[in-house]
Amino acid sequence: MWQCSVCGYIHDGTEAPEQCPKCGAPREKFVEITTEAANLVQRARLTNQLLVSLMSMVEGLGSLADKGIKDNLDPGCMKIFSYTKRVAAEIRQMAKAEIQIHVQKGKWG
Ligand SMILES: [Zn+2]
Repeated sequence: MWQCSVCGYIHDGTEAPEQCPKCGAPREKFVEITTEAANLVQRARLTNQLLVSLMSMVEGLGSLADKGIKDNLDPGCMKIFSYTKRVAAEIRQMAKAEIQIHVQKGKWG
């Protein structure tokens, strides 16, 4: 793996790309990632993907809850939709915080 020292873009390959697809920096700006760091990135890729999918799913849950709250049929339904909205927001924020930790620890790329 190679990382662009300008923007952080990670390239999978035996050699660095001609230029960074993200920021356009030339090949010389890429540094090879250590095996240890590359293993961390590799190991965390599935989990990161799952966390991103989870954030997308709870976004949908939040929208569903908003519709239910707007509908306001009865207190029982309001309770369920209000609870759903709160939990969805908490899960989204938890996933976001976890991804941030992964980025800081180099478990991203
Ligand atoms: Zn770049």
